[in-house]
Amino acid sequence: MSSIENPHVSVLELDMNALAHNISYFKNKLQSSTKLLAVVKAYAYGHDATQVSLVLEKNKVDYLAVAYTYEGISLRKSGIKTPILVLHAQIQNYALLTEHNLEPNLYSHATLNAFIEFANKNKLDNYPVHIKFNTGLNRLGFTPNEVPKLIKTFQENNNLKLQSVFSHLAASEDLNEKEFTLQQIEKFKDIKQNISDAFSHTIDFHLSNTSGIINFLEAEHDMVRLGIGMYGFGNTPKETSKLKNVSSLKTIISQIHTISPGESLGYNRAFIAEKETKTATLPIGHADGISRELGNGKGSVLINDTICPIIGNVCMDMIMVDITGVSCTERDQVVIFNNQTMVNELAKNSNTISYEIITGISQRISRKII
Ligand SMILES: *Cc1c(COP(=O)(O)O)cnc(C)c1O
Repeated sequence: MSSIENPHVSVLELDMNALAHNISYFKNKLQSSTKLLAVVKAYAYGHDATQVSLVLEKNKVDYLAVAYTYEGISLRKSGIKTPILVLHAQIQNYALLTEHNLEPNLYSHATLNAFIEFANKNKLDNYPVHIKFNTGLNRLGFTPNEVPKLIKTFQENNNLKLQSVFSHLAASEDLNEKEFTLQQIEKFKDIKQNISDAFSHTIDFHLSNTSGIINFLEAEHDMVRLGIGMYGFGNTPKETSKLKNVSSLKTIISQIHTISPGESLGYNRAFIAEKETKTATLPIGHADGISRELGNGKGSVLINDTICPIIGNVCMDMIMVDITGVSCTERDQVVIFNNQTMVNELAKNSNTISYEIITGISQRISRKII
C-alpha cells in the first residue's frame, strides 16, 4: 500500500505496525481510565499526519493535537473524526477553526476574550475549548493566580464548554531538573483542585508529554499527550529499546565518480582527495533535512551495510559520500537511517535532538507506507 503520489527516489518509509506497537506500549503504562491524546503536529513529527492519524483513529486514541489550525483542517479534509486540539490557535483563524470542528487552546486573556466575542457573535453553544496554564515553561499559558478570574469567566459564558485544562512540563526528560518538575506538578495539582471544585461537569486535566509519562507517574491525571514516544523515541536508550522504529529514510546512488589525489569535491572545494577516492552522489540535501553540520565527515550513510561518510559540504539537493572500497553501483539503495540509534547519531553529530531530525525531513521526500 503506498500513500502519496510522489515519485521521488528519496523515501521515508513508514511502518504503521511499529506505530501501533508504540501506542499500545504507552497505553499499557497508563491506568485504563487515562485518556490518550496523540500529538500529530508538524506532519506528525515529519511522518505523514493523515496516514498516522488514520492509524491512531483505528487504535482509538481519544484526542489528536496539532499546533496550528491549518494542520487540523487538513486532517478533517482527510476524513479524521477524532476531536482535535489546536495547541497554538490564532485569533484570526477562529472562523476556520470552528467551521472544521477544531478545539482551540486558549492560553491568554486576549485569546480567550476574542473567542468569547466570536462565540457570542456566531451563537456557538457549549463549544469545547481548552485552557493552558504556565507552570514554569514560560512559553504559553495563564498564570496560576488567574484561576478565580477564569472560573468566573466560564461560569458567565455558556457559549464555551471548558473541555480540558492543561500545562506543559519544561524538563520532564531531565532527571537533574526533577525538583523543578515536581514543583510544576504541585502547581498543576492546585490548579486542578480549584477548577474541578468550581464546575459540575467533567473536565480533563493533563500535564504529561512522553517523558512525563515515562518519568513522572504522578503527573498522569485524566489524559496524557504522547508525541515523540509514539514515533519510537523514549527519553533513555532503555526506553527507546522497548519501542519499535517507525520511519526509515532511504535514497539511491545517482552517480559514482573516481577522483584523483589533489582533486576537490563539492562547493568551496571543501574536500580535497589525498588518494584516489570513489564517491557517490545522492539525491538528498540540506533542503531535505540533512543538516550542513553533517558535511565533511561528521555524518554518514549506509550502503550495502557499509558506513560511508559524507564528504565535502552538504548541498541543497545532494550529498556526496566516500565509497572507496565499497562494492556498490549506481541506483543501489542507500540508508540514511533505519533505526532510532542512527537518528540519535545524526542528531548528536549535528548538535540537535531526534525531534529536529525527524520533523526536518522535507515534504519533497516521498512518504511510503510499508
Ligand atoms: C509537542 C507537545 C507535546 C508532545 O511532546 P513529546 O515530548 O513529543 O511527547 C505535548 N504537549 C505539548 C503542549 C506540546 O507542544
